[in-house]
Amino acid sequence: MKITDLKCAVIGQNPVIRINTDEGIYGYGQAENTKPYLKPHVLFYKNYLIGEDPTNVERVMMKIRRMGSYKPWGAAVSAIEMALWDIAGKAAGIPVYKLLGGKIRDKVRVYNGGVRFSMKGYNPEDYAEDMRKMKAAAEGFTIIKSPISFHSAMPYQIPNFSYDEPRGVAPQGNPYFQPKGNMIAMFDAPHANRGLLTEKSMKHVIACVEAMKSVLGDEIGLALDCGPGWMVTDAIRVARALEPFNIMWMEDLLTGDYTPYTLADNYREVTQATSTPIHTGEQIYLRQNFKDLIERYAVRVIGPDPEDIGGLAELKWVTEYADLHGIMMAPHGVFDGLIGLAALVQVCATLPQNYIAFEYPVAKPEWWYEIIKGLPNPIVKGGLIEVWDTPGLGVDFNEDKARQYLASEDQDFFD
Ligand SMILES: [Mg+2]
Repeated sequence: MKITDLKCAVIGQNPVIRINTDEGIYGYGQAENTKPYLKPHVLFYKNYLIGEDPTNVERVMMKIRRMGSYKPWGAAVSAIEMALWDIAGKAAGIPVYKLLGGKIRDKVRVYNGGVRFSMKGYNPEDYAEDMRKMKAAAEGFTIIKSPISFHSAMPYQIPNFSYDEPRGVAPQGNPYFQPKGNMIAMFDAPHANRGLLTEKSMKHVIACVEAMKSVLGDEIGLALDCGPGWMVTDAIRVARALEPFNIMWMEDLLTGDYTPYTLADNYREVTQATSTPIHTGEQIYLRQNFKDLIERYAVRVIGPDPEDIGGLAELKWVTEYADLHGIMMAPHGVFDGLIGLAALVQVCATLPQNYIAFEYPVAKPEWWYEIIKGLPNPIVKGGLIEVWDTPGLGVDFNEDKARQYLASEDQDFFD
C-alpha cells in the first residue's frame, strides 16, 4: 500500500487531515480547535509522505518527526501519525488499540475539562455554583478540572492579584477561550501573567478550592488548572495548604500550556515539598522532552496531548516510562475534536494502570456531532466511555452532512 495524497481542511476550527492510499483506504487525523492556522504547516509534510507505505507507521514517522516542536508546532506531525494508525487499523480490519498492544480496559475514564458554564465571577460562591452545575452534567463525570489563579480571569478580576500588573487582554465571561472570528482570545493573552501572589490572593485561591470541595465532597475528584506563572515559593505554600482537600492534581503551576520548556528542577522542588500531586506536560513534544520530568521525579502526573506529543504511539511509550518511575498519566484533550476523541479512547484503552483519565473533548460548533459517525450515543456514561471495536479509529465523516462546512478551496476533501 502506498500513500497517494495528504490533505488538510479546517472544519469549524479543527484542522482535519486526510491521507489517501492507492488501495482506496484513507485515514483521518485532527489537531486542536485552537489551531485553525495550521493548514500550510500540515501540507509542508506532503512530499515526505507520498509513496510511503502508511502501515509502516514508525518508518514514515522517522521521516518527519524531527521537523516538529513544542505546542503548537508538533501538532501537524501528531495528526499525521494519528491518520497513519487509522489506515493501518482499517487495512488489518482491527481497531487501533489492537495495533498498540491490545486493550487492558473495556471502558476508559474521562475527566471534565470542557463542559463549561459561564461564571458570574471568580469568588468562592461562583466556583461552588459552577461545581453544582458540572456535578449535575449528564456525563456523570467522576473527576472535574477547574481553572484557578493565572489560568482563569482572576488576575484581571481580583484587585492586586499579584505583585506584577495584569498583562494581555482579559478574557470575557468564560475564563477559558472565547471564539473571536476565526481566532481565539487566548492568543490575545496566552497565559501572559506571572508573578508573586499577594497573601490576599493566595487566601482567595484556597477559599475557592474549599468552596468547590464542599460541593463535590469525596465522590468527585477535583483537579486544578493553575498557571503557568506561579513562583516556586507560592506553589509550595498553596500546594501544602490544599493538602487536606486531596486534590487530584495541580496543573501547570510553573510552566505549561504554550511554554516551550519544562524547568524540571523547579517542578521537582515543588513536588518534593508537598503531598499534593503536581502535574504538567500538555505542551511537550516527544519522549525526549519528558526525560527530565520523569527521571528526576519532578512531577507526580503528566498530561501530554496526543495531538501535540507526536501521536498515539509516543503517548503510549511515555506512559509506560512514567509508570516505571511511579508517575501517573492524565492526557490533555479538551480541544481535540471528535476524531481526537476517538484516538484518545483507542490509545487510553491500552495504557498501563498509572492511567487516571483523559480530558474529554467537547466538539465545537455543535454540528460536529452531526457530521461524525461511529461514536456511541451518549458518548459518556457515568464518567466512562465504552471502547468500540470498529477498524481503525472507528469514526468517519457523514459526508452528505459535512460537505456544507467545507471551505470552497476544500470541496474535494472527501475525494
Ligand atoms: Mg491545562
